[in-house]
Amino acid sequence: MKNAIKYIALSWLFATFFSQNLAYGSPIKVVTTTNIVHELVLQIGGDKIQAEALMGPGVDPHFYKATFGDMRKLAHADIVFYNGLHLEGRMQSVFDNLSSMKPVVGLGYAIEQHLLLKENDIVDPHFWLDVRLWRQAMHEVVLRLTELAPQHADYFDARADAYLLELNQLDVWIRQQIATIPESRRVLISAHNAFGYYGAAYNIEVLGLQGINTTSEYGLQDLRHLKDIIKKRKIKAVFIESSVSERAIESLIAGVNAEGGKVALGGQLYSDALGSAKSSAGSYIGMMRYNTRTIVKALK
Ligand SMILES: [Zn+2]
Repeated sequence: MKNAIKYIALSWLFATFFSQNLAYGSPIKVVTTTNIVHELVLQIGGDKIQAEALMGPGVDPHFYKATFGDMRKLAHADIVFYNGLHLEGRMQSVFDNLSSMKPVVGLGYAIEQHLLLKENDIVDPHFWLDVRLWRQAMHEVVLRLTELAPQHADYFDARADAYLLELNQLDVWIRQQIATIPESRRVLISAHNAFGYYGAAYNIEVLGLQGINTTSEYGLQDLRHLKDIIKKRKIKAVFIESSVSERAIESLIAGVNAEGGKVALGGQLYSDALGSAKSSAGSYIGMMRYNTRTIVKALK
Protein backbone atom coordinates (compact mmCIF):
# COMPACT_ATOMS: atom_id res chain seq x y z
CA MET A 1 0.00 0.00 0.00
CA LYS A 2 2.84 2.33 0.95
CA ASN A 3 4.49 1.59 -2.38
CA ALA A 4 1.27 2.29 -4.22
CA ILE A 5 1.01 5.72 -2.61
CA LYS A 6 4.63 6.44 -3.53
CA TYR A 7 3.93 5.43 -7.13
CA ILE A 8 0.85 7.59 -7.35
CA ALA A 9 2.67 10.61 -5.90
CA LEU A 10 5.57 10.08 -8.28
CA SER A 11 3.26 9.60 -11.24
CA TRP A 12 1.52 12.85 -10.48
CA LEU A 13 4.83 14.66 -10.21
CA PHE A 14 6.08 13.34 -13.54
CA ALA A 15 2.76 13.95 -15.23
CA THR A 16 2.79 17.58 -14.11
CA PHE A 17 6.28 18.23 -15.37
CA PHE A 18 6.38 16.25 -18.56
CA SER A 19 2.95 16.27 -20.18
CA GLN A 20 3.40 19.60 -21.94
CA ASN A 21 5.09 18.19 -25.06
CA LEU A 22 2.07 17.75 -27.33
CA ALA A 23 1.54 21.44 -27.81
CA TYR A 24 5.01 21.85 -29.27
CA GLY A 25 4.51 19.34 -32.08
CA SER A 26 6.79 16.65 -30.71
CA PRO A 27 5.70 13.04 -31.30
CA ILE A 28 2.93 11.67 -29.09
CA LYS A 29 4.48 9.57 -26.34
CA VAL A 30 2.72 6.21 -26.26
CA VAL A 31 3.35 3.45 -23.75
CA THR A 32 1.80 0.02 -24.24
CA THR A 33 1.86 -3.19 -22.22
CA THR A 34 2.39 -6.11 -24.64
CA ASN A 35 4.49 -5.84 -27.78
CA ILE A 36 1.40 -6.95 -29.74
CA VAL A 37 -0.47 -3.80 -28.73
CA HIS A 38 2.74 -1.82 -29.34
CA GLU A 39 3.02 -2.93 -32.94
CA LEU A 40 -0.62 -2.13 -33.70
CA VAL A 41 -0.24 1.38 -32.31
CA LEU A 42 2.91 1.87 -34.41
CA GLN A 43 1.09 0.71 -37.56
CA ILE A 44 -1.33 3.59 -37.10
CA GLY A 45 0.81 6.21 -35.40
CA GLY A 46 3.88 5.91 -37.66
CA ASP A 47 6.33 8.75 -37.16
CA LYS A 48 3.79 10.90 -35.34
CA ILE A 49 4.28 8.82 -32.22
CA GLN A 50 7.12 7.63 -30.05
CA ALA A 51 6.04 4.27 -28.68
CA GLU A 52 7.45 1.93 -26.10
CA ALA A 53 6.26 -1.50 -24.92
CA LEU A 54 6.72 -2.53 -21.30
CA MET A 55 6.68 -6.26 -22.17
CA GLY A 56 9.09 -7.69 -24.70
CA PRO A 57 9.25 -11.06 -26.50
CA GLY A 58 8.63 -14.11 -24.32
CA VAL A 59 7.02 -12.13 -21.48
CA ASP A 60 3.84 -13.56 -19.96
CA PRO A 61 1.36 -10.69 -19.44
CA HIS A 62 -0.83 -12.70 -17.04
CA PHE A 63 1.94 -12.60 -14.42
CA TYR A 64 3.47 -9.23 -15.21
CA LYS A 65 3.82 -6.61 -12.50
CA ALA A 66 4.84 -3.03 -13.24
CA THR A 67 8.38 -2.19 -12.17
CA PHE A 68 9.50 1.17 -10.85
CA GLY A 69 10.97 1.93 -14.28
CA ASP A 70 7.61 1.09 -15.89
CA MET A 71 5.85 3.51 -13.56
CA ARG A 72 8.17 6.26 -14.74
CA LYS A 73 7.49 5.45 -18.39
CA LEU A 74 3.75 5.39 -17.76
CA ALA A 75 3.99 8.74 -15.98
CA HIS A 76 5.81 10.28 -18.96
CA ALA A 77 3.32 8.97 -21.54
CA ASP A 78 0.72 11.13 -23.27
CA ILE A 79 -1.48 8.07 -23.76
CA VAL A 80 -1.37 4.45 -22.61
CA PHE A 81 -2.74 1.47 -24.53
CA TYR A 82 -3.17 -1.94 -22.97
CA ASN A 83 -4.99 -5.12 -23.97
CA GLY A 84 -7.45 -5.24 -21.07
CA LEU A 85 -10.06 -7.92 -20.21
CA HIS A 86 -7.66 -8.77 -17.37
CA LEU A 87 -4.86 -10.00 -19.60
CA GLU A 88 -2.60 -7.74 -17.55
CA GLY A 89 -4.44 -8.76 -14.37
CA ARG A 90 -1.71 -7.56 -12.02
CA MET A 91 -1.52 -4.08 -13.51
CA GLN A 92 -5.20 -3.08 -13.32
CA SER A 93 -4.79 -0.83 -10.28
CA VAL A 94 -1.98 1.03 -12.06
CA PHE A 95 -4.28 1.69 -15.04
CA ASP A 96 -7.09 2.79 -12.76
CA ASN A 97 -4.81 5.29 -11.00
CA LEU A 98 -3.33 6.64 -14.23
CA SER A 99 -6.68 7.10 -15.93
CA SER A 100 -7.44 10.24 -13.90
CA MET A 101 -4.34 11.87 -15.43
CA LYS A 102 -4.30 10.80 -19.09
CA PRO A 103 -6.12 8.59 -21.61
CA VAL A 104 -5.60 4.94 -20.64
CA VAL A 105 -7.15 2.71 -23.26
CA GLY A 106 -7.93 -0.99 -22.83
CA LEU A 107 -8.46 -2.24 -26.39
CA GLY A 108 -10.52 -5.24 -25.28
CA TYR A 109 -13.25 -2.93 -24.01
CA ALA A 110 -13.74 -1.56 -27.52
CA ILE A 111 -14.60 -4.98 -28.97
CA GLU A 112 -18.29 -5.67 -29.56
CA GLN A 113 -19.19 -7.41 -26.31
CA HIS A 114 -21.24 -10.22 -27.87
CA LEU A 115 -18.18 -11.33 -29.85
CA LEU A 116 -16.11 -11.98 -26.73
CA LEU A 117 -15.67 -15.60 -25.64
CA LYS A 118 -16.05 -16.79 -22.07
CA GLU A 119 -14.67 -19.70 -20.07
CA ASN A 120 -16.46 -20.37 -16.75
CA ASP A 121 -17.97 -16.87 -16.89
CA ILE A 122 -14.55 -15.23 -17.27
CA VAL A 123 -13.97 -13.31 -20.49
CA ASP A 124 -11.15 -14.73 -22.59
CA PRO A 125 -8.71 -11.84 -23.18
CA HIS A 126 -6.89 -13.32 -26.23
CA PHE A 127 -9.12 -11.68 -28.84
CA TRP A 128 -6.20 -10.51 -31.04
CA LEU A 129 -5.84 -14.06 -32.33
CA ASP A 130 -9.00 -13.46 -34.40
CA VAL A 131 -7.96 -10.97 -37.09
CA ARG A 132 -11.48 -9.57 -37.41
CA LEU A 133 -11.48 -8.58 -33.73
CA TRP A 134 -8.01 -7.10 -34.00
CA ARG A 135 -9.44 -4.94 -36.76
CA GLN A 136 -11.92 -3.53 -34.23
CA ALA A 137 -9.03 -2.79 -31.86
CA MET A 138 -7.31 -0.98 -34.71
CA HIS A 139 -10.30 1.35 -35.12
CA GLU A 140 -10.11 2.19 -31.41
CA VAL A 141 -6.43 3.10 -31.78
CA VAL A 142 -7.27 5.42 -34.69
CA LEU A 143 -10.04 7.05 -32.69
CA ARG A 144 -7.95 7.61 -29.56
CA LEU A 145 -4.86 8.91 -31.35
CA THR A 146 -7.04 11.26 -33.38
CA GLU A 147 -8.69 12.60 -30.22
CA LEU A 148 -5.25 13.42 -28.90
CA ALA A 149 -3.79 14.84 -32.12
CA PRO A 150 -6.62 15.81 -34.50
CA GLN A 151 -4.11 17.60 -36.77
CA HIS A 152 -2.86 14.12 -37.83
CA ALA A 153 -6.30 12.65 -38.52
CA ASP A 154 -5.71 12.17 -42.27
CA TYR A 155 -2.34 10.57 -41.63
CA PHE A 156 -3.78 8.05 -39.16
CA ASP A 157 -6.73 7.31 -41.47
CA ALA A 158 -4.51 6.64 -44.47
CA ARG A 159 -2.30 4.29 -42.49
CA ALA A 160 -5.35 2.50 -41.07
CA ASP A 161 -6.81 2.01 -44.57
CA ALA A 162 -3.57 0.47 -45.83
CA TYR A 163 -3.22 -1.79 -42.79
CA LEU A 164 -6.86 -2.86 -43.02
CA LEU A 165 -6.25 -4.28 -46.50
CA GLU A 166 -3.37 -6.35 -45.17
CA LEU A 167 -5.44 -7.60 -42.24
CA ASN A 168 -8.29 -8.60 -44.54
CA GLN A 169 -5.91 -10.60 -46.74
CA LEU A 170 -4.41 -12.24 -43.66
CA ASP A 171 -7.83 -13.28 -42.39
CA VAL A 172 -8.73 -14.99 -45.67
CA TRP A 173 -5.31 -16.66 -45.93
CA ILE A 174 -5.48 -18.19 -42.43
CA ARG A 175 -8.93 -19.65 -43.08
CA GLN A 176 -7.75 -21.23 -46.34
CA GLN A 177 -4.64 -22.68 -44.71
CA ILE A 178 -6.40 -24.26 -41.74
CA ALA A 179 -8.98 -25.83 -44.07
CA THR A 180 -6.20 -27.94 -45.62
CA ILE A 181 -5.81 -29.97 -42.37
CA PRO A 182 -8.00 -33.11 -42.45
CA GLU A 183 -11.02 -32.41 -40.27
CA SER A 184 -10.55 -35.25 -37.76
CA ARG A 185 -7.03 -34.05 -36.97
CA ARG A 186 -7.91 -30.37 -36.86
CA VAL A 187 -7.24 -29.99 -33.12
CA LEU A 188 -4.87 -27.45 -31.63
CA ILE A 189 -3.43 -28.41 -28.24
CA SER A 190 -1.10 -26.01 -26.44
CA ALA A 191 0.02 -24.98 -22.98
CA HIS A 192 -2.72 -22.53 -22.04
CA ASN A 193 -6.06 -21.87 -23.61
CA ALA A 194 -5.00 -18.80 -25.61
CA PHE A 195 -6.28 -19.95 -28.99
CA GLY A 196 -10.03 -20.01 -28.38
CA TYR A 197 -10.68 -17.02 -30.66
CA TYR A 198 -8.32 -18.40 -33.28
CA GLY A 199 -10.13 -21.73 -33.22
CA ALA A 200 -13.58 -20.17 -33.43
CA ALA A 201 -12.57 -17.85 -36.26
CA TYR A 202 -10.61 -20.32 -38.37
CA ASN A 203 -12.49 -23.53 -37.66
CA ILE A 204 -10.05 -25.56 -35.62
CA GLU A 205 -10.90 -27.20 -32.30
CA VAL A 206 -8.77 -25.87 -29.45
CA LEU A 207 -7.74 -27.56 -26.22
CA GLY A 208 -5.35 -26.18 -23.62
CA LEU A 209 -3.71 -27.82 -20.65
CA GLN A 210 -4.36 -24.72 -18.56
CA GLY A 211 -7.34 -22.40 -18.76
CA ILE A 212 -7.32 -18.92 -20.26
CA ASN A 213 -4.95 -17.73 -17.52
CA THR A 214 -1.43 -19.03 -17.07
CA THR A 215 -1.75 -18.24 -13.37
CA SER A 216 -3.92 -21.32 -12.69
CA GLU A 217 -2.49 -24.83 -12.27
CA TYR A 218 -3.59 -27.72 -14.43
CA GLY A 219 -4.77 -30.94 -12.81
CA LEU A 220 -4.02 -34.59 -13.45
CA GLN A 221 -7.55 -34.99 -14.78
CA ASP A 222 -6.87 -32.41 -17.50
CA LEU A 223 -3.72 -34.30 -18.44
CA ARG A 224 -5.56 -37.65 -18.59
CA HIS A 225 -8.34 -36.15 -20.69
CA LEU A 226 -5.91 -34.67 -23.21
CA LYS A 227 -3.86 -37.87 -23.46
CA ASP A 228 -7.02 -39.83 -24.30
CA ILE A 229 -8.09 -37.37 -26.98
CA ILE A 230 -4.65 -37.38 -28.60
CA LYS A 231 -4.55 -41.17 -28.78
CA LYS A 232 -8.15 -41.64 -29.89
CA ARG A 233 -8.04 -39.05 -32.66
CA LYS A 234 -4.47 -39.77 -33.70
CA ILE A 235 -3.43 -36.14 -33.30
CA LYS A 236 0.09 -35.84 -34.62
CA ALA A 237 1.43 -32.89 -32.69
CA VAL A 238 0.97 -30.52 -29.76
CA PHE A 239 2.51 -27.07 -29.31
CA ILE A 240 4.49 -25.00 -26.84
CA GLU A 241 4.06 -21.23 -26.52
CA SER A 242 6.81 -18.64 -26.48
CA SER A 243 5.57 -17.00 -23.28
CA VAL A 244 4.61 -20.12 -21.27
CA SER A 245 6.85 -22.80 -19.69
CA GLU A 246 7.39 -25.87 -21.90
CA ARG A 247 7.32 -28.30 -19.01
CA ALA A 248 3.63 -29.20 -19.05
CA ILE A 249 3.52 -29.87 -22.78
CA GLU A 250 6.71 -31.94 -22.62
CA SER A 251 5.22 -34.14 -19.90
CA LEU A 252 2.05 -34.51 -21.98
CA ILE A 253 4.10 -35.73 -24.97
CA ALA A 254 6.14 -38.11 -22.79
CA GLY A 255 2.93 -39.43 -21.21
CA VAL A 256 1.19 -40.19 -24.50
CA ASN A 257 4.25 -41.84 -26.01
CA ALA A 258 4.85 -43.94 -22.87
CA GLU A 259 1.29 -45.28 -23.20
CA GLY A 260 1.90 -46.46 -26.75
CA GLY A 261 0.53 -43.36 -28.50
CA LYS A 262 2.49 -41.25 -30.92
CA VAL A 263 2.57 -37.50 -30.67
CA ALA A 264 5.35 -35.02 -31.44
CA LEU A 265 6.17 -31.46 -30.56
CA GLY A 266 4.68 -29.40 -33.39
CA GLY A 267 6.78 -26.35 -32.65
CA GLN A 268 6.46 -23.08 -30.78
CA LEU A 269 3.49 -20.79 -31.19
CA TYR A 270 3.30 -17.12 -30.30
CA SER A 271 0.22 -16.40 -28.23
CA ASP A 272 0.67 -13.56 -25.74
CA ALA A 273 3.82 -11.91 -27.14
CA LEU A 274 5.36 -11.29 -30.55
CA GLY A 275 8.82 -12.67 -31.30
CA SER A 276 11.84 -10.37 -31.38
CA ALA A 277 11.49 -7.46 -33.82
CA LYS A 278 13.81 -9.03 -36.40
CA SER A 279 12.23 -12.51 -36.33
CA SER A 280 9.48 -13.64 -38.70
CA ALA A 281 7.04 -13.46 -35.77
CA GLY A 282 8.12 -9.92 -34.90
CA SER A 283 4.97 -8.27 -36.24
CA TYR A 284 1.30 -9.13 -35.75
CA ILE A 285 0.87 -10.29 -39.33
CA GLY A 286 4.17 -12.16 -39.14
CA MET A 287 3.12 -13.87 -35.91
CA MET A 288 -0.26 -14.95 -37.31
CA ARG A 289 1.38 -16.34 -40.45
CA TYR A 290 4.12 -18.07 -38.48
CA ASN A 291 1.60 -19.70 -36.12
CA THR A 292 -0.63 -20.81 -38.98
CA ARG A 293 2.24 -22.32 -40.98
CA THR A 294 3.53 -24.12 -37.87
CA ILE A 295 0.07 -25.54 -37.07
CA VAL A 296 -0.66 -26.67 -40.63
CA LYS A 297 2.76 -28.26 -41.14
CA ALA A 298 2.53 -30.26 -37.90
CA LEU A 299 -1.09 -31.44 -38.11
CA LYS A 300 -1.62 -32.08 -41.82
ZN1 LIG B 1 -2.59 -15.80 -22.31
